[in-house]
Parts: sequence; C-alpha cells; structure tokens
Amino acid sequence: MRRKAFRLYSTHLKQRFDGRVHKISVDAGFGCPNRAGGRDAHGCLFCDPGGSGAVGIERNEPIAVQIERGKELMRRKYRAKWFIAYFQPFSNTFAPVEVLRDCYDQALAVADVVGLAVGTRPDCLPLKTLDLLAEYDQRTYFWLELGLQSMHDKSLNFIQRGHDYQCFLDSYQAARERGLRICVHLILGLPGESREDILATAEEMARLKVDGVKLHLLHILEGTPLGDLYKQGQIEMLEMQEYVELAVDFVERLPPETLIQRLTGDGPRDILLAPLWSMNKWEVLNAIDAELERRGSVQGDRYRG
Ligand code: SF4
Repeated sequence: MRRKAFRLYSTHLKQRFDGRVHKISVDAGFGCPNRAGGRDAHGCLFCDPGGSGAVGIERNEPIAVQIERGKELMRRKYRAKWFIAYFQPFSNTFAPVEVLRDCYDQALAVADVVGLAVGTRPDCLPLKTLDLLAEYDQRTYFWLELGLQSMHDKSLNFIQRGHDYQCFLDSYQAARERGLRICVHLILGLPGESREDILATAEEMARLKVDGVKLHLLHILEGTPLGDLYKQGQIEMLEMQEYVELAVDFVERLPPETLIQRLTGDGPRDILLAPLWSMNKWEVLNAIDAELERRGSVQGDRYRG
C-alpha cells in the first residue's frame, strides 16, 4: 500500500539506477557550529553525543574504509548494488572548501558509489560552499540534506537550534538557484507545537516545493538537555496514533512529486528514553499505511498548489 500512497525515495532510486541503491552513513569528523564549533558542547536540545548520526557508524576509520564496511553489510542484508555516501552526523559543510572537496572526493572514489548526500545546517552554507556543492551536483547524483525541524521560530528557539526560519529560507533559496536537490529534515512532536503549527510547516514545505522530506519523530535520548527536561516531567510526548495521524496529515499536504525519504525513525535503543513505542518502526509504518487506507487518501490529496 505505501508504495502507491507515497512517492517513496527508495522506489525512485530503484527506477533511476539499475539495481538496489542504499545509503551508507559516513562520519568525516566535522563538528557543528551549534556545538561551539566542535562536538563536545551541547547544541540542539535533542542532539545526542553522536551528532544525530546513524547507529553503528565506524567513526574513526578513513572515509573509504567506512564505506567499504557499509557496502559489505548492505550487500549481505539487502543485496544492494549501488551506494550513496551519506555525510550524516554533525554538520558536513563545516570546513573550508578544500577540506570538504577532499572528503567528498574520497567517497566518490570508492567503487560503486553513485551519489553523495550531504547533511548540514542552514547557517553553515556560505556561497563558496554552495558553489562547491553545485560542482558535485554536476558530477554525480547529489542531495543536500538540510536540517530545519520546524518553520516556527518559537520552536527553533526552544530547541536552541541557533538559527531562525529566515536563515533557512535564505540558504534554501541560494541552493535552489544553484539547482541543488534539497531534502528538508523536520521533527513532528516538538514541545509546544500544536497540530496547526505542524501542518503550517507542511504547507510551507509544499509552497517551497522541496524535492524531498525526512519526517522524524521527536526522540528523547539519555545524555541530552531534552532528556533532562523529560526526566523532570516537563516534556509531553505524542502517542503512536497521534504521530501516525500527523504524519499522514503532513504527507497529504505535500505535492505528489515530493520524495518521502523518511516517515519515522528509531533512535539509538541503548539511550532512548521516549517514546518507547518508536522502537517498533515497522508497526509505526504499517499504522501509517493503515491510516491512509482508512482515509482513502494518498500523498498530495490536500496539496493546495
Ligand atoms: S545542528 Fe545537528 S549536529 Fe549540530 S547540535 Fe543540532 S542536531 Fe546536533
């Protein structure tokens, strides 16, 4: 059902490339401007010590070694044929362009890597860096993954994001002018956000006609400032059905052509404080399918473009 109801990124990749394509998370060692330029200070309230990266990244290995290990795993598990190197944790444009070029080139030099995805923050994209990314967009299958989380400044302030919505708009526009494909990361369930607030973000993403979205469920992790607030009883969490309905409401408002790269997430189990129901990712995804089926709707049904 999900295949028909959403424009899934995985389906798009299968159509674009001959064979299964998987992303491999890479940690190139960059820091984050919102963590005092390094990795140790606290940044966004929800960010874990790993800089919001995937579980199991071989952080201290050379880039090519990380990718080769990922390839082996993805081949064994999913019979993947091609790979996209995904510079994921922390801010992967937070270095001079020569350093960035060297890192991206190391990834592209690995056999069977057919694309790059670079995750970063809107305030970490000087024009010189955007020009560099545009070069990679000419050379390979390239995605810029831009963390936003919410269009509401009250929420960005609360999570101590360190930039406002205008900053996102400016970087988004500059990246668009260079023809970059952009996937925006958003969090559903931020403290203080109403359903209307969340749907306003959905409608704004629809207005911008973003190429892709990743919807993240708010996770509360041990060792984060948000985790401390949660333990003090100050954070209310969504129930699973509430999340499911919001995710469906969100996707219904996006244009039919927006690629859905993620509909939920499963945080690192060893430090996950809440919501524990998120550990069963397939149950959440199946519930999203069931909700769409119950409504008889598909992505784009409430798009007002
Ligand atoms: S921008 Fe990313 S890496 Fe930096 S503090 Fe926020 S979530 Fe963590």
